[in-house]
Amino acid sequence: MKADVLVLGAGAVGTAVALHLQTRGRQVALVDRRGAAGREASFGNAGLIQREAIYPYAFPRRLRTLLRYATNRTTDVHYHPGALRALAPFLARYWHHSHPVRHDRAARAYATLIEHCLDETRGLAEVAGVADLLRPTGWLKLFRTARQQDAELRQAAALTSRFGVVADRLDAPGLRALEPDLDPGLLGALHYREPLAVVDPGRLVDAQRAAVERLGGRFLTGNGLTLRTVPGGWSVESRVGPVQAPAVVLALGAWSGVVAGTLGYRLPLGVKRGYHMHYEPSGDATLGRPVLDAAHGYVLAPMERGIRLTTGAEFANADARRTPVQLDRAEPLARGLFPLGARRDPEPWMGLRPCMPDMLPVIGPAPQHPRLWFAFGHGHQGLTLAAVTGRMIAEMICGEDPFVDAFPFRADRPSLA
Ligand SMILES: Cc1cc2nc3c(=O)[nH]c(=O)nc-3n(C[C@H](O)[C@H](O)[C@H](O)COP(=O)(O)OP(=O)(O)OC[C@H]3O[C@@H](n4cnc5c(N)ncnc54)[C@H](O)[C@@H]3O)c2cc1C
Repeated sequence: MKADVLVLGAGAVGTAVALHLQTRGRQVALVDRRGAAGREASFGNAGLIQREAIYPYAFPRRLRTLLRYATNRTTDVHYHPGALRALAPFLARYWHHSHPVRHDRAARAYATLIEHCLDETRGLAEVAGVADLLRPTGWLKLFRTARQQDAELRQAAALTSRFGVVADRLDAPGLRALEPDLDPGLLGALHYREPLAVVDPGRLVDAQRAAVERLGGRFLTGNGLTLRTVPGGWSVESRVGPVQAPAVVLALGAWSGVVAGTLGYRLPLGVKRGYHMHYEPSGDATLGRPVLDAAHGYVLAPMERGIRLTTGAEFANADARRTPVQLDRAEPLARGLFPLGARRDPEPWMGLRPCMPDMLPVIGPAPQHPRLWFAFGHGHQGLTLAAVTGRMIAEMICGEDPFVDAFPFRADRPSLA
């Protein structure tokens, strides 16, 4: 079978790339080993389209915070002690790039992507016919202590003045008026009003896959590890036989490094694992928008399936056994925050956030192969940036100037050397 472009990986990023290409008249073959779209990280996230996320998630630099995490008893971060040796090179680079000066530089580049996330996500969801999955509620960062609240308010004020981020400060009565079923003991909150809340991220991604097929593209089951060069381009094995195209996009999330590795690329891609569980709301309690318990780093997000609790970062080998201790720690705290009923899933879901140590995604041409494109490494904001990335890659493949300058996100940038 032949196509114009092979897109490997049918997560949020791959389906967005494929849909943008197909709407530009390129014949796409979208390939995923799962035989379904949006089943990995793009399935189980907190569903936030984070217009406020100008600063990508940094590694803590303050000794006090590091010592707190070193205990391995916190809710927001967990690690497998046995994995630290293998993870050390990635963590050391991540720590280095999280220096305030470098972090600030990364944020200036990141902002050029983030500023388009709302329009681009809405636009693609409309093409996919699922704009109703995006709720214009914003989200709330909740505070339990004055100290934390003051620090976060200062940061929010800086985001507003430098990057135009809209953030409303809510005192306790203001918070109660907006979300009456939250713990009345909370001190207050920041309401990021602009972000969208996706109430079923997996369905959004699958709708993007369906739209690709509706527009004439193909969706195939196949393994990116079979990718090889052939005369005139690239070939990958699928259930219906080899699929060939002059160009290929790697959008394999946390697995992108493995497949790129077979072509000789040594990319420092790490993973941060995360878990979720759904709950029924207790009685007639309602939650109008996602909330982050800032002191403990978990999110409660109202989803179609129930209230989804998502956890912070777990540092472990990608394929190590699941250890949902953060979920076990967060659940009692969450029950104190909002009246949760019974668990709805038989077991916790786990996903892998694909992370580059300099906190920027890789978006652009591969340095050593013509017509090989990279689109991965979006860390904590892959749902937020999928549609932006999809448009940039499609524009570059079609020979147009990308609507966002792709230079800071190139694979051969010095910070990844
Ligand atoms: C708990 C949690 C909460 C999060 N919350 C948010 C949030 O609120 N907002 C936000 O923006 N981001 C959030 N994220 C991050 C976001 O989910 C990810 O950055 C994003 O989903 C990555 O998308 P992706 O398409 O790159 O990867 P994935 O969704 O992982 O997709 C990769 C695809 O590649 C396929 N694949 C892998 N290997 C192969 C192979 N060899 N051959 C063929 N196919 C293959 C997989 O089957 C999969 O379909 C969260 C993540 C987690 C874990």
